Amino acid sequence: IEKLVRPNILALKPYSSARDEYAGGAGIFLDANENPFGELNRYPDPHQRDLKHKLATLKAVNDNNIFVGNGSDEVIDLAFRIFCIPGVDKALTFAPTYGMYEVSSAINNIELLTIPLTTDFQIDVEKVKLYFADSSIKLLFICSPNNPTGNLMNKRDVEYILKNFNGIVIIDEAYIDFAKEASLISLIDQYNNLIVSQTFSKAWGLAAARVGLAYANSEVISLFNKVKSPYNVSKINQQAAIDALTKFEVYSERLTLILKEKERLIAQLQELVIVKKIYPSDANFLLLEVEHADSLYTALVAQHIITRNRSKQVENCIRISIGTPHENDELVKALKDI
Ligand code: PMP
Repeated sequence: IEKLVRPNILALKPYSSARDEYAGGAGIFLDANENPFGELNRYPDPHQRDLKHKLATLKAVNDNNIFVGNGSDEVIDLAFRIFCIPGVDKALTFAPTYGMYEVSSAINNIELLTIPLTTDFQIDVEKVKLYFADSSIKLLFICSPNNPTGNLMNKRDVEYILKNFNGIVIIDEAYIDFAKEASLISLIDQYNNLIVSQTFSKAWGLAAARVGLAYANSEVISLFNKVKSPYNVSKINQQAAIDALTKFEVYSERLTLILKEKERLIAQLQELVIVKKIYPSDANFLLLEVEHADSLYTALVAQHIITRNRSKQVENCIRISIGTPHENDELVKALKDI
């Protein structure tokens, strides 16, 4: 892995926070220039130990295989900063996919190469192979289930890439809890170039809390810890994630309901003439092909229903998140009216 890391990051002496030096327990804390009064007056655990401990059990990994970020968008940004020399190195992804790979690469002044997905939104492995010899490509992003198309990528293709690509492969599993296949976290011991990112924003229902995760071998995780800002996840947000993990039955009940609603919504949408196609989805959203995406999007907004117009990425497609039963009913009613 070392040869993939930016030299300045390898040489970096990370900031050592007051709370690094003294981990916790009882005492009189006069080390961090905090205010001695109040409830949120103390800096949070910079290593998010309690949260990692709970996650390690749930995901069957070690604590040092986990990085906790300010949303998984932080994982994406840090990956560019750790592995890609601005203006020199490149990254690779597929199209259409999640927009932050492009934005984050642009912020970091890294050229992002994109390979179109096949017509059924799978990886075109033959095209990917053409890039294996380019050692300036340090990162490859695979979003699975993919946003906005909703499908899982073929595991065989992903493993082929992991075996044959010399750079870092980030598998973005923001939607994996909704999918019929299991996470690829179990492969982190096998491939030292694999990073799996997940989030509390989707199935765990904590988008407001901004807690994202990277799972990888401990060497890669230590690079993320080296570069992250010292207190990147607030105490409130760490606690929100811990509480969600503790109430596992709430998570799983809601997950079941969302999946049930997805099936109900699909059945209702299939009845509508304006819906030309519903793409298969392993996520908590549906990609619909309609006759005129732009005008449908606007007509829905007029009825106070906000969807995502993705017609620039996939012709005449809108992306719809699965809502509550009531919200889904309102959506279907509005579509019928239109
Ligand atoms: N990856 C994908 C594929 C996403 O769709 C999103 C959010 N829309 C994210 C990552 C970012 O999630 P987070 O809230 O964890 O930053």
